[in-house]
Amino acid sequence: MVRHSSRIELSQMALKANLNFVRRKIGPGIRISSVVKANAYGHGIDPFVPMAEKTGINHFSVASAHEANEVLLCKSPESSIMIMGILYDEDIPWAIENDIEFYIFNYDRLKLVLECAKKIGKKALLHIEVESGANRTGLPCDEFSKTITFLKRNQKHLKFEGFCSHLGGAESDSSKFKIDAQVKTFQDMVKKLKTKKFSPKYIHLASSAASLAYPNTRYNMVRTGVIQYGFWPSPDIYYHHLHEVGKKSDRILKRIITWKTDVMDLRSVSAGQFIGYGTAYQAESDMTIAVMPLGYSNGYPRAQSNKGHVLIHGKKAAITGLINMNLFMVNVTHIPDVKVGDEVVLVGRQKNSVIRVSSFTESVNLLNNEMLSRLPSAIPRYVVK
Ligand SMILES: *Cc1c(COP(=O)(O)O)cnc(C)c1O
Repeated sequence: MVRHSSRIELSQMALKANLNFVRRKIGPGIRISSVVKANAYGHGIDPFVPMAEKTGINHFSVASAHEANEVLLCKSPESSIMIMGILYDEDIPWAIENDIEFYIFNYDRLKLVLECAKKIGKKALLHIEVESGANRTGLPCDEFSKTITFLKRNQKHLKFEGFCSHLGGAESDSSKFKIDAQVKTFQDMVKKLKTKKFSPKYIHLASSAASLAYPNTRYNMVRTGVIQYGFWPSPDIYYHHLHEVGKKSDRILKRIITWKTDVMDLRSVSAGQFIGYGTAYQAESDMTIAVMPLGYSNGYPRAQSNKGHVLIHGKKAAITGLINMNLFMVNVTHIPDVKVGDEVVLVGRQKNSVIRVSSFTESVNLLNNEMLSRLPSAIPRYVVK
């Protein structure tokens, strides 16, 4: 295979540590649905799903049917897939054929699903998503009763797999009043459901933040995304955890991802010369610079121009000038014996130095999730211990 200009390594040990942490936190008897939308938050669905299965995960959530198909191609037969978002009408038969669970957030869709299930001769596995105050997707309150009645009547073809909603912003203490109201609304609906004497297999409400910080949102399933990749959902949730365990800091979460490339070329630049496009960087003294074989088209944020660092021989090398489409340059004047082909760490650890995704993104006001999910799927991913 022709070599790509960078590579991503994924740590199996780190994933195991993160999931064990989640398991300890939520306690026994609660199923974890591993959220792998956005190409597993940029880690890569194809390597990540089997990695998660190795640690005992057997349920995966995605945002679209297209992503569900990617999971379908790499998961083991025992694992389930749940689509939380877009599934086009014409793909409903495909979902039913492949036992893919999906959200229902409007009543009208049920008739079509029923028709498909009858035709195929297989049950459709449905999660009824209700509106609780986030105003994204979710069944409006007035469609709740007739939806449950419809499901009950057509149990032969429709399986009531889940009952769920989504909290909009459990990450932040400042929206706690809103989250409390959402939780209350959902609890009321769960009560109403009980009076209908028709129960789903799973009730789920919590994503990473709520599953860590709000025990009453865990029910019997949680949908955890960002936490399993080793990132706190927010500083508030991290401080919540510190308070709970009585510590001043806790490095319990492990980053799974390391992003690497190698030195493409080296050159000397004399004082006064400019590096790269325009006049963004002028050498103040004689310098040695190393050329990196990737740029913003490869997922390296252009906002890092003249700001970020990479690691070479365990030392920080500052970016000099603009991030180009496929190249950028770094200062290696202070690092002895750098050679073409030497390993460069863009994100992650090298010897005793580390470049965190957060330090990488804080300076340029980019969300961790945004930076990660933009890593092109073309970058090859390798699983390491
Ligand atoms: C993305 C998403 C999650 C996971 O969120 P994290 O904060 O990454 O844990 C859970 N549920 C739904 C509906 C989502 O869209």
